Amino acid sequence: MIRFVSAAALLASVFVVVSVAQQRGTFTVGTATAARGHKATGTIEVPAGVDAGLSIPVAVFHGAKPGPVLALVAGAHGTEYTSIIALEKLIATLNPAEISGTVIIVPLINIQSFEQKVPHLNPVDRKSMNRWYPGKMDGTQTDRASFLITKQVVEQCDHLIDLHGGDLDESLRPYSYWTKTGNEKQDQISREMVLAFGLDHIIISTDRPKDPQASRYLENTATTRGKPSLTAEAGHAGTIEPEDVDALVRGCLSVMRYLEMVPGAPEVVRSPVWIDRVLTITSDEGGLFYPRVKRGEYVAKGMSIGHVTDFFGRKVFEARAPAAGVVLYICSVPSMTKGGTIANVGVVRTGS
Ligand SMILES: [Zn+2]
Repeated sequence: MIRFVSAAALLASVFVVVSVAQQRGTFTVGTATAARGHKATGTIEVPAGVDAGLSIPVAVFHGAKPGPVLALVAGAHGTEYTSIIALEKLIATLNPAEISGTVIIVPLINIQSFEQKVPHLNPVDRKSMNRWYPGKMDGTQTDRASFLITKQVVEQCDHLIDLHGGDLDESLRPYSYWTKTGNEKQDQISREMVLAFGLDHIIISTDRPKDPQASRYLENTATTRGKPSLTAEAGHAGTIEPEDVDALVRGCLSVMRYLEMVPGAPEVVRSPVWIDRVLTITSDEGGLFYPRVKRGEYVAKGMSIGHVTDFFGRKVFEARAPAAGVVLYICSVPSMTKGGTIANVGVVRTGS
């Protein structure tokens, strides 16, 4: 069962985290400075170091009225297009005159991944741009970008939503992550945020690093700094389906309503499917992958979810579900390497 706190308690918890930054007449991220009630766009300039520099686009909506600072970020993986498009839409539609608080939107971090159509990694330094937080200035491009995002986005916000989706080779069903830190108050707010986001499959994440200086992931960088946050994923395999884009746009707007940054009630998930554990199935052999199940399908323990053949058509590996659960994503292309990911299966929590 899902329990909700009273409106009064909720209001108190939300206003406690309103940062002093909201008292300012202007709000600056990178080269974008917005006066109260206005929008500004600009870039976070990552200077050249051991490799090339990078200009990361950023939009700032400094609301007419005070309220929390919410950061919306996408494109750490530049070919997870749905999440990037969703934030482009929000940049075009949010009206700072109607906002209580401030919204920072970073729609695309990994520009070279986007331009060169390279999944998972920043092709400049071969690093995932969601694994090297909080970053450092004397590292490669990903390290420097991560450091500046930590300083300019994470440290200036009260809440953060990191958007992802299935990458070019991932057929993914939408889901979000709720990070459980052990801090009851923070966890309650982030839980309500994730329910307000509206995706009905929610992974309970308990294994993220606790050390803010070794936070690795973007959302975890905010979470370990005491800022209730979430990660959400929708979109799959290079497609831009309207329902996936809408799910992310609606989710961000619904969380804004939960945080009372815009009027209206959030659309809260009524029957969430909580996922306790995520099991990754990898291939023992390289070759051609043939899936047998689709994203979102429920599988029984031991059931075949696909197989791998060598380049002569001989079956060399049968992939089986290690436990009963839901296929969160499955490899959407034939290319398979030894040790490559075939699928992620989520084990659904039973009981309350
Ligand atoms: Zn991603």
